[in-house]
Amino acid sequence: MTTTDGLSSGVSTDDIDFDAVHAKYLAERDKRLRPDGNDQYIEVKDQFAHYVDDPYVEVVDREPLFDDVEVVFIGGGFSGLVTGAALKQAGIDDVRIIEKGGDFGGTWYWNRYPGAQCDTAAFVYLPLLEETGHMPTEKYTHAPEILEHSKRIAEHFGLYENALLSTEVTDAEWNAESSRWIIRTNRGDEMRAKYIAMGTGPLHRPKLPGIAGIESFRGHSFHTSRWDYDYTGGDPAGAPMDKLADKRVGIIGTGATSVQCIPHLARACGELFVFQRTPSSIDVRNNEPIDPEWFATLEPGWQQDWLLNFTTLQTGGFTDEDLVKDGWTDISKRIRDRLLSAPEPDLTPEGFMRAYHESDDEKMAEIRARVDELINDPATAEALKPWYRQLCKRPCFHDEYLQAYNTPGTHLIDTDGKGVEEITETGVVVDGVHYELDCLIYASGFEVGTEFTRRSGYDMTGKDGLKLSDYWADGMRSLHGIHVHGFPNVFVVGFAQGANLISNIPHNLTEAGITIASIIDHAEKIDADQVEVTEGAERAWLTKLESGGRSFGGDQTCTPGYYNNEGQDAAAGAQLGSLGYPEGPVAYFDYIKTWRESGDFDGIDFR
Ligand code: NDP
Repeated sequence: MTTTDGLSSGVSTDDIDFDAVHAKYLAERDKRLRPDGNDQYIEVKDQFAHYVDDPYVEVVDREPLFDDVEVVFIGGGFSGLVTGAALKQAGIDDVRIIEKGGDFGGTWYWNRYPGAQCDTAAFVYLPLLEETGHMPTEKYTHAPEILEHSKRIAEHFGLYENALLSTEVTDAEWNAESSRWIIRTNRGDEMRAKYIAMGTGPLHRPKLPGIAGIESFRGHSFHTSRWDYDYTGGDPAGAPMDKLADKRVGIIGTGATSVQCIPHLARACGELFVFQRTPSSIDVRNNEPIDPEWFATLEPGWQQDWLLNFTTLQTGGFTDEDLVKDGWTDISKRIRDRLLSAPEPDLTPEGFMRAYHESDDEKMAEIRARVDELINDPATAEALKPWYRQLCKRPCFHDEYLQAYNTPGTHLIDTDGKGVEEITETGVVVDGVHYELDCLIYASGFEVGTEFTRRSGYDMTGKDGLKLSDYWADGMRSLHGIHVHGFPNVFVVGFAQGANLISNIPHNLTEAGITIASIIDHAEKIDADQVEVTEGAERAWLTKLESGGRSFGGDQTCTPGYYNNEGQDAAAGAQLGSLGYPEGPVAYFDYIKTWRESGDFDGIDFR
């Protein structure tokens, strides 16, 4: 039941009563709605702080630094790497990246759980492939290769030279007299920087489920983003976790992380108990090695072509060819083809929504049929079927996850949408049944929608004592998602209030990095001390974004999750942070290129 693209397909939907299916979607959602929304999760601090310790390096003492730098970048993930690279390419050499992890890589530094892999194709996901000369070894790269690539970028562009690793920024303050930022860290540093940029990532602060008794568990426990290989045995490259052979292991959560590590746990554990609240949708992965001979035929400039091709198709546009050909491009190609194949295509927003819902009904029917096809036990198969639209939650793609439940010793403990009842000293309780465990793994995800300072660990004080947390108290405000009025010489790197391209985050970051490098280059050439967006330009940008209403998530007909603020209407301010360019990512990337290349930098005041 796979197409030539390797995507699941071919299920007859003729006999399906889709009204009944939609009613079930709502009933399943209702089971999961809870009044505490985002507050159901525990912040990883105080007695839980050890869950975020860095297990990968020994932090070595060093003397604090009191010096001057031209550009400080907070965060050594892809944002810092691509911006650092763009700055170096523009001839701006005095760049210091400050990173709390012991090396570069960001999410790929922390997430080393077994089976970790990128769900977006390497050719569009991995930045700077042509510049660094790296050929991805497979279509969907595994985490160790992505971590290596991060280090490769840092080496290639000389970003290690001035970096501060295992260091957390605690505070950044604007000094108007000197037109410099004063940046303090948890290692006692106090440096001055002309420019400060930050890319701290949308999903980097692990969270724990607020389950009664969580503090009482006496067995071993850790969060998936700090995998404890000392305890489990094995390694991130996939060596068997031999120390689990006589262990009873529980894992809470069945999101994208869990989907990737469960096949490995199923092979290794004496017994594995997977505690599920909502099943993920699991489409075909169809990974494949990259053929070096074919790779050698790619013409210079190929990566930009692939990026444009992917983003165009992924956002409903037209191209002659689908270069990436995967579940992401398939989603939008199906909608587009359905829309255009009607005898009289209805190209209105209503027509688009109808086509979207019909293709989604078909896709989800295929995904549920795949569960029946792959799972031996009918009750387990029933519990693994997702009853919601595919984009309500993060779509998952895997060719071994479902089959893991056929492994003897692997038990799916479905909580029927209610979640785990209680954690005791020795295990987990669901529906009154106690499961004894040696080890409990939290695959409970990352903070989304909490305050900026809670996730970043620092605040910024801009002009006239203005705190960024106060300025953004009612929601993010920026020009292009990069510049913030009242915060001269500050640049934000992300995807919000720019392209808002969710399926390939690095594309957003790369464009932001190039844009920032052009602005700093210009400021230096004209001898400007300060670069700041005008109040009017920032307001006009927000008005434009709001009028377009192109935002990510927020659909309350969906089952709850971080895509829709756990099923609660987000405050108006929080919605601001999910707005994107009204005409879509391809148009945004065109727009921002023209904006920076014109040399006018409209909306920015250089003085
Ligand atoms: P998620 O937030 O997606 O999943 C958390 C899981 O914990 C959910 O299954 C949730 O259930 C469950 N959970 C929370 N509380 C309870 C409870 N009280 N009882 C039982 N279960 C509970 O986190 P992930 O780490 O899986 O993924 C986060 C994101 O990271 C992904 O969405 C993706 O964006 C990214 N990622 C990307 C990858 C890539 O390929 N690039 C790979 C892996 C992750 P429920 O669904 O009911 O809320």
